[in-house]
Amino acid sequence: MAVMITDLCINCDTCIDECPATAIVSADESPIEGAEFTYVKPEKCIECVDSTVPKCSDVCPTEGAIVWDMPYTAEFNDYYLSRNQDGIYNIRVHKKQGIFSPDKKPKPFRESISLQERENHVDVAV
Ligand code: SF4
Ligand code: SF4
Repeated sequence: MAVMITDLCINCDTCIDECPATAIVSADESPIEGAEFTYVKPEKCIECVDSTVPKCSDVCPTEGAIVWDMPYTAEFNDYYLSRNQDGIYNIRVHKKQGIFSPDKKPKPFRESISLQERENHVDVAV
């Protein structure tokens, strides 16, 4: 998967400690150069599949700050590599294993969320 944090984020950092996958980092620690807001690493996010709701969104005070993105699976490999190239993401590159792309390191995702909701980056809290 993934959920994605938008520029509506107010950098309160409340979501960071809630994430069971340590997928969220503050703007200061974001792998995106010059980042101005909190960042979710798509190669780590598991969409909180074992919980009732995504924990980051559950504590977020800002409407529209955390939205759905596509499943982090092989089917969306090109999508994520393209967004990586565009600087929206900065997916981890391992010295020996190379980039942790969706085809190599797929993550669990919520099947209950439609592709349309994901394409439209609907607010996770809705
Ligand atoms: S959905 Fe869950 S795993 Fe993904 S960033 Fe939010 S808290 Fe972390
Ligand atoms: S809880 Fe919401 S507003 Fe606060 S840092 Fe996380 S995404 Fe941004």
